[in-house]
Amino acid sequence: MPHKLIAGNWKMNGLKGAGRELARDLAARARSAAPDCDLLVCPPAQLLIPVGEALADSPVQLGAQDCHAEASGAHTGDIGAPMLADAGCSHVIVGHSERRSDHGESDAQVRAKAAAAAAAGLVPIVCLGETEAERAAGRALAVIESQLRGSLPERGPVGGGTGPAAAGPVVAYEPVWAIGTGKTATAGDIAEAHGHIRGLLREILGRSAGDSVRILYGGSVKPDNAAEILAVEDVDGALVGGASLKADDFWAIGASCP
Ligand code: PEP
Repeated sequence: MPHKLIAGNWKMNGLKGAGRELARDLAARARSAAPDCDLLVCPPAQLLIPVGEALADSPVQLGAQDCHAEASGAHTGDIGAPMLADAGCSHVIVGHSERRSDHGESDAQVRAKAAAAAAAGLVPIVCLGETEAERAAGRALAVIESQLRGSLPERGPVGGGTGPAAAGPVVAYEPVWAIGTGKTATAGDIAEAHGHIRGLLREILGRSAGDSVRILYGGSVKPDNAAEILAVEDVDGALVGGASLKADDFWAIGASCP
């Protein structure tokens, strides 16, 4: 397994000045002391170009938060995966629970977006996770399984050629009740969910491809809980929301990688 991946999801936060400043800060740190993990920041769409410029010649990669399933066309307000690649992105998040709830995105739509991302040479970060009610009803693993089977592009690795997508997709397990709430799943719950996802990936993609998919945990990852979470088996990194907006916190999470 390569380095762990620490991905920052800035969500709908940041104007040009602050976004550029945060990216410059991270890039400067990463240029002077290469972190023991892969770092990725996913700013809102209007910041992709200035943040990409600020990250130039640094190991910090650029990602986006969503893409359309079509490459281009009459889809007002949307953005196509080839546009993201053209803006310098290597990754794109698809199926974040806020997209699923705010925009009613289905597993089939998420799968189409992931396939579009891979076709454009991007690594899709496919998000899934159960709600609090689903966990309370004992349905967490069943929900995770059905979302994974429905959202993952058909056969992997999904990428072609030698671009970043050739490595296949990334999966992010994010229990909805842990996102932005300060609650985190226990190490035992995370191990159970990630182990289940790993088993499914092996079944769906084949053992070797299934083992090479990075599975990120997301949900209130902070500097003070990152080391424990990142040490859990089959946790190959983290998808970080709130704490990715502070350079010190995001950097500290990266430094927690074992
Ligand atoms: C997220 O947005 O994917 C996320 C995990 O947010 P937070 O870290 O704020 O819970």
